[in-house]
Amino acid sequence: MRNQIGLTKEQIDQCKLIWKFLMGGDSDTGHFDDAKLEGMRIRLDTSEAHEDKSRTRFNEDRNIVILGADAFPGTDITDPNSQLSESACLIHELSHAQRYYLGFRRPCSPSADYHPDEAETSLHASFHSVLYPSDRLYLVEDAQKHIRSWLREKG
Ligand SMILES: [Zn+2]
Repeated sequence: MRNQIGLTKEQIDQCKLIWKFLMGGDSDTGHFDDAKLEGMRIRLDTSEAHEDKSRTRFNEDRNIVILGADAFPGTDITDPNSQLSESACLIHELSHAQRYYLGFRRPCSPSADYHPDEAETSLHASFHSVLYPSDRLYLVEDAQKHIRSWLREKG
């Protein structure tokens, strides 16, 4: 489980800086052609972030990523998702937004079919050029965990 305690002003400011940086694009590695997303501007909504148990999520109808307490890592060292840094969490949400803009419309309701979309999104995020090597590993492990969950629920 990720952090559940409402974020401090400093933590929120840190996430705003990270988001501003991420909105600048990711053309360093050549792993992603930013031109495909020309004009994509996603605002970071921080209005809920101070609340305990608030959730970070991409809202496609409002064109925003809502920052929540769970943007920050938790303490469970056996769960790769719990260990992702706040940067990696925001890159994962950015990947949801990018995939939406690119035309992906995967099922993402909390049914079994939500797992493949989460797995793809974490793999997509794992190519971002500014990730720590540990975050890249956790994102791939997170994807693997979702694939395993999907197989278990379908099998
Ligand atoms: Zn996700």
